[in-house]
Amino acid sequence: MGTVRCLRCVSCGAEYDPDRLDYTCPTCGPRRGTLEVLYDDAALRRILHRDSFAATGRLSMWRYEALLPIDSMRYVQPLRVGWTPLYAFPDLAHGMGLAALYVKDDGQNPTASYKDRASSLVVIKAQEKGRSIVTCASTGNAASSLAGFSAAAGLPAIIFVPERAPEAKVAQLLVYGAKVFSVQGSYDDAYDLAAEAAEAFGWYNRSAAMNPYLVEGKKTGAFEIAEQLAWQPPDVVFIGVGDGSVVSGLCKGFDEFARLGLIDRVPRVIGVQAEDSSPIAAAFSTYAGGRVEFEDTDAHTVADSICVGKPRDVVKAVTYVTRNGGSFVTVSDDEILDAIVALARATGVFAEPAGAASYAGLRKLARTGTLDGRTAAVVISGNGLKDATAARQRIGAPIRIAPRIEEIERHL
Ligand SMILES: *Cc1c(COP(=O)(O)O)cnc(C)c1O
Ligand SMILES: [Zn+2]
Repeated sequence: MGTVRCLRCVSCGAEYDPDRLDYTCPTCGPRRGTLEVLYDDAALRRILHRDSFAATGRLSMWRYEALLPIDSMRYVQPLRVGWTPLYAFPDLAHGMGLAALYVKDDGQNPTASYKDRASSLVVIKAQEKGRSIVTCASTGNAASSLAGFSAAAGLPAIIFVPERAPEAKVAQLLVYGAKVFSVQGSYDDAYDLAAEAAEAFGWYNRSAAMNPYLVEGKKTGAFEIAEQLAWQPPDVVFIGVGDGSVVSGLCKGFDEFARLGLIDRVPRVIGVQAEDSSPIAAAFSTYAGGRVEFEDTDAHTVADSICVGKPRDVVKAVTYVTRNGGSFVTVSDDEILDAIVALARATGVFAEPAGAASYAGLRKLARTGTLDGRTAAVVISGNGLKDATAARQRIGAPIRIAPRIEEIERHL
C-alpha cells in the first residue's frame, strides 16, 4: 500500500489529513481547490526498485499497489484493469518521420476506457471508507466505468448523464445495473446535480476532478508506458483532454517515477483538445506561472468524452503540464474523425473519437516536422465500439448485392 502523507490543495498548498477530507480544499472551493495525493517519498525510495512491480506477479495496474492509496488488496475487484498493451508500429513511425511510435490501447480495459483505472480505485476507497453507494456525473465513460466496477464490487451506483450521452454508453450503464438519471441539460448541469445529491444523501462521489483518488488511478498509465518500454520512456506522450484529470495523471505518474529514480528522463506530455472544446489549452497558452486563469466556454465536438466547456481539473492540468515541460494542441472534428480511420487502418486499433484525439494531435504535430527523429506514444483512451455512429461519418456503406457470384465479380 502507498503510504499517503497528506492531501494537498493544488492552488493554495494547504495540506489535509486524508481521513478528514473527501473531496476539495474548503478554502479554494471545488474548482480551484482540487487535491493532490502526496506520499512519503523517502520511504518509497528505500523499498522500491525497477523489479518491484513485476515481482508482484500482477498483470494489472495493481502491480503498482505500493504507489497507490489503498489500505490493502482486500477490496480489489477481480476485473483486470490496466497493464493494457503498448504496441510498436515501426513502419508507421518512419512514415511520419518518428524514430518510434507506440500505441497504448486502453480501450482494452474491462469497460473499454481509460476511466477504469480511476473507477477501480475509487470503488475500493468507497468500501474502505464504509460508504454504501457510489455516484458520479459523466458524459459516458466515467459513468459506465463506475457502473461496471460497482457491479464487480457489489455496490449500488447512481449515475447522472447528460441527455445527449451516446446510446452505447448509456446502454452499458443500464446493463451493469446502475440507477441512471438522464439529466435534461448539459454535462455541467449533471455534474452539479450529482455533487448536490452526493452531499445530501451521503453517496461517495467519483465525478471528475473532485475526488483526489481519480488521478492516482490515472497515473498508472504513465507507470506502464515506462515499464513496458524497459524504463526508457518515449520523448512525447499524447492524450485527449476534457476535464484535465487524465493528462494530470500521466504527468504525475512520470514525475513520481523520476523522483523515485526509476526513470532518468520524463516524456513531454501533450494534451490534445478538440478545437471547439479547448478551455484548458487556452488557459495553458496564457499561463505565466502563479495563479492559473481560465474561462469557461460553450463546448461542441464529435468527441463526446472530451466535450467539456467547464473543465474541473484545469488548475492541475495547466500546472502539471507546465512543470512537465509538455504542451497542448487542438484538433478539429474533421482531424479527429480522420484519425479514427487512419489509426484503425494502420494499426488495427479502433478508437472512439476522444480516444483518437491523441493520434490526431500526433499527426498534426508530426506534419510540422517538430517530432522528426523523436519517439512518441499515443494513449488510446476509449474503444471505438462505444461510439460507432461517429466513425460512420468517415466510412462508406457496404456493397449491396444479390447472393450470386457474378454480382461479386461486377464489384471487384
Ligand atoms: C475522460 C476521457 C478523456 C479525457 O479525460 P479527462 O480527465 O476528462 O481530461 C479522454 N478520452 C476518453 C475516451 C475519456 O473517456
Ligand atoms: Zn486551497
